[in-house]
Amino acid sequence: MAGDTDKELLSRRGFLGVSSAALAAASVLGPDSAARQEQGSAQNPKGDRSASDPGPTNAALDAANPDSNHPLPTDAGGVQTFKYPFSFAHKRFQEGGWSREVTVRELAVSKSLAGVDMRLTAGGVRELHWHTAAEWAYMLYGSARITCIDGDGKSFVTDVKEGDLWYFPPGIPHSIQGLPPDGAEFMLVFDDGNFSEFETVLLTDWMAHTPPDVVAKNFGVAPSALAKMPKREKFIFQTDVPGPLAEDQRRAAGALGASPIDFAFRTTQHPAPTKLKTGEVRVIDSSSFKISTTIAAAIVTVRPGGMRELHWHPNADEWQFYISGQARMTVFATGARARTMDFEMGDVGYIQKTLPHYVENTGTTDLKFLEMFKSSYYQDLALSEWLSHTPPELVAAHLNLDKATLDAMPKDKPLIVP
Ligand code: MN
Ligand code: MN
Repeated sequence: MAGDTDKELLSRRGFLGVSSAALAAASVLGPDSAARQEQGSAQNPKGDRSASDPGPTNAALDAANPDSNHPLPTDAGGVQTFKYPFSFAHKRFQEGGWSREVTVRELAVSKSLAGVDMRLTAGGVRELHWHTAAEWAYMLYGSARITCIDGDGKSFVTDVKEGDLWYFPPGIPHSIQGLPPDGAEFMLVFDDGNFSEFETVLLTDWMAHTPPDVVAKNFGVAPSALAKMPKREKFIFQTDVPGPLAEDQRRAAGALGASPIDFAFRTTQHPAPTKLKTGEVRVIDSSSFKISTTIAAAIVTVRPGGMRELHWHPNADEWQFYISGQARMTVFATGARARTMDFEMGDVGYIQKTLPHYVENTGTTDLKFLEMFKSSYYQDLALSEWLSHTPPELVAAHLNLDKATLDAMPKDKPLIVP
């Protein structure tokens, strides 16, 4: 077993005899590869070639993934890979934009949620469609016009910009169109790891696979009127930028009126972010974004030197998207198994329900990422709130901590430390 091998290596290298000062130094080194080399030599007796790598290797990927290439001494055993960069995903180019997806097929552990990164030019349209999964979205760049009809057939048309969200329940037909000056890019999150952007109900695909005389009868027109309908799906296509929002809203509403449901959530809406010393956290779930009944989110910013504290989520798996900055995350997977992986802009991360983890900013710029859950509500428990709300003698007896250390522990959930 890999875990046993790791343990054997550790004892052979005399790791357990390393001074606490060396351990403390190792723990703050982070992903800097030169520093990691130092750490290696501190652990290994002079001349020990155990960690050398004379054969072929991808130097750029090794440098970007120091915690995989040179695991921390606390990592052990087989833990399922929980990172997938969008850079590895197939990019589906079309006139008007592109999309790429990370699903359970790319990242095997990600069973409950999947993500699609999509770019639309100004005027570019993600065509009218729906799917069996619910769709939650975060605007990464630019602006877009979204449309749908609700369960009563009433229309919803609005414009969204960077930082805004939307949510479309399963079976609710919708569209997205990039607006001037440069369209949009957004992250779509679906409440099904097996979701595929290639398997949605598209208006053009449906019509192309329905007998023309049936479509003609349905619309009450002659079949000749339908001669120019596309023979295959469009998915994404380029057209003119739309006119004024109010005019689109008026015409879509017709005699039925507009939907009373708000399918979008804007950066200006409450709750505002919780501001902390080294970052901020904004939780948005169905308590504030009513329609989002199957997907909850936390939008997290961690300043350099900060860390999203040791915690876990009792209610759901966590799907992450890294928007900016650099991080490392360790997932403790029970049974003496733990793995640390490195993350940066464009990566997907994943933590199975209830498994403990932390996310540390290892860079020199702000770390920003999405925590996504297939749930109507956001929930987390932190190590510090657990231990500070358990009889102190009991905690002390477990961890051999003195009273001063127990007293110093945060009494509430700090979310981000220090
Ligand atoms: Mn969709
Ligand atoms: Mn988490």
